[in-house]
Amino acid sequence: MGYHVSVMPRLALVVSLVLSGCVALSQVGPVRFTTPCGLQVHGYATDGGMPVQWNADTVSEAESRLLAALELYADDVRVAPAPRACARLKGWHVYPHPDDWFVNPAGKLIAGTTNCDKHLVIAGRGDPRRWALQHELIHVLQRCEPWDHEGWRDGGLYPALESLGVE
Ligand SMILES: [Zn+2]
Repeated sequence: MGYHVSVMPRLALVVSLVLSGCVALSQVGPVRFTTPCGLQVHGYATDGGMPVQWNADTVSEAESRLLAALELYADDVRVAPAPRACARLKGWHVYPHPDDWFVNPAGKLIAGTTNCDKHLVIAGRGDPRRWALQHELIHVLQRCEPWDHEGWRDGGLYPALESLGVE
């Protein structure tokens, strides 16, 4: 019985993560560009549009800056060194959201969300070099374990984000 007690809350959390990642993505749009590490970047799930600050240069710069910062600050083998972390991003789908902040199906105001089952990220439209995309890519590198940012401060992940100007 102890087994069920410990597993049930975890299952509930996984379900809520899956639901929160399903925002308007029943239809997958075409890939607009691919970053050097292989992130597949789409336009808005709603109409295929792209935020003004999102293009192949800025998103690729966001990616390389994040990997460099993680190499400097973080001690999690899943997020550094950069060449290995880069390989862990390959094939994941990234969608901008038309707003900087948005409400997920659970009613929570968020700047981004990552669905590790579907290999997709939705990030608020802010400058990808300094906004939610950077945070969400750490969830991708960690494959959403832990889901709740446990250890992000002591493990150097928040300091890495702060060095990039991400709150
Ligand atoms: Zn997060």
